[in-house]
Amino acid sequence: TEELMTKDTGWEADATDAPSGNVPVVAVVGRPNVGKSTLVNRILGRRQAVVQDQPGVTRDRIAYDAEWVGQRFSIVDTGGWDPDATGMAKAIAAQAEIAMQTADVVVLVLDANVGVQESDSAAARILQRSKKPVIVVANKVDGDRQEAEAAALWSLGLGEPVAISALHGRGSGDLLDRILDSFPEEPTGSLTSVGPRRIALIGKPNVGKSSLLNRFSGEDRAVVDNVAGTTVDPVDSLVEIDGENWILVDTAGLRKKAKFASGTEYYATLRTQSAVEAAECAVVLLDASNPIAEQDQRILTQVVESGRALVVAYNKWDLIDDDRRYFLEKEIDRELAQVAWAPRVNVSAVTGRSVTKLAPAIREALAGWEQRISTGELNQWISALVQAHPHPVRSGKQPRVLFATQAGTKPPRFVLFTTGDLEPQYLRFIKRRLREDFGFTGSPIEVTVKARE
Ligand code: GDP
Ligand code: GDP
Repeated sequence: TEELMTKDTGWEADATDAPSGNVPVVAVVGRPNVGKSTLVNRILGRRQAVVQDQPGVTRDRIAYDAEWVGQRFSIVDTGGWDPDATGMAKAIAAQAEIAMQTADVVVLVLDANVGVQESDSAAARILQRSKKPVIVVANKVDGDRQEAEAAALWSLGLGEPVAISALHGRGSGDLLDRILDSFPEEPTGSLTSVGPRRIALIGKPNVGKSSLLNRFSGEDRAVVDNVAGTTVDPVDSLVEIDGENWILVDTAGLRKKAKFASGTEYYATLRTQSAVEAAECAVVLLDASNPIAEQDQRILTQVVESGRALVVAYNKWDLIDDDRRYFLEKEIDRELAQVAWAPRVNVSAVTGRSVTKLAPAIREALAGWEQRISTGELNQWISALVQAHPHPVRSGKQPRVLFATQAGTKPPRFVLFTTGDLEPQYLRFIKRRLREDFGFTGSPIEVTVKARE
């Protein structure tokens, strides 16, 4: 229909100028007809962006990119996603839960003329538990007469209601200021680290870790070096690779070359684990002159499960000839499939070959680890993907993906809201396409599903 087309056009316009960095997310919740769509339209400044729900038409695009006084944010209208017959109170409760999980700020909209209904109180009780800021909006305050009705919404126990008229614009500037004031200093999960990044150099015994460390740090340069504002643990080293400073964590063991009479492997595993956890990016050394061993696989799995960025470095590259190189390529395809997304570099700690190439690889992996897709961009992507490749129908049922959000970074974590459980293959398909279309080079990614009851 014409209206649906208008809706699509509005969305495309949003998508092209979608902010790609970290933008805060605002969720709008409330009962039907309180004026949520009108408010979202008002904030977007475009009448066309949201189309009124029509019976039988599911509003499937619900996240929009907005801007106010130079601050960009995403606005999510949760009202459109749950129009089914589970009952009003339940539907609102579900909206509130989703809003709390996905947004940085929750806006609860009420119709001041109607006053507090049972389902509004239910939503308020849920939102009271939220650690996120909640703003109560008393809508349809078109004139001074209704200010008293607006004040009655104090009873929800969520602070001072903001009286607005979404239709006429009254008070909407104040509301936007309140929203902007509530944004976290840094949107969820976007801690920008200052100073040198923390990396771990790990790998099975004799793979060349201490040789590589020596190449980077020379004669214990690390101990005497001092970069302003950086604290380096006694067990860590400050090293320079490619003209940049890095903190190599837990290098005391590599320097001392501690030998244990028994339980060596057990202690090595513990040591590796603590190094991985102390680091942002792990560089796993493999011995290019020997086949990949089970222990190498275990170490790679450790990094993936710890959710750290990963770079694979083939050391002892000086030892391999053309024959070995040929077999190595086959081996990589076969044995390193689980980490095919990790940047790979070939180095030699002994000759110094290509060791500086580690720095760009680590930078790339850290960028993938911190990558964030805006809610608007992600939802445009997921709705196109599931439309082109719907979930297979099983015994008459076909779960739909309603909405997606990136819940965090370091590593990137995604939540899909669906109408039912997804088959593992379908989930893997979505994960694979996420990587194909957005990259996340050098980082594990996590996708979880929340199915609506
Ligand atoms: P939603 O279901 O919560 O998204 O509500 P809508 O945005 O579709 O609005 C429901 C009805 O309330 C529509 O007829 C709007 O025109 C009307 N409405 C929305 N905001 C206001 C307002 O501030 N004042 C008045 N008088 N009507 C409003
Ligand atoms: P670690 O146990 O992982 O710390 O390994 P080491 O750094 O102690 O190295 C083990 C052995 O491998 C030593 O004899 C090193 O000289 C040798 N080695 C390390 N890196 C290389 C390399 O790139 N090429 C060659 N040919 N030998 C290496």
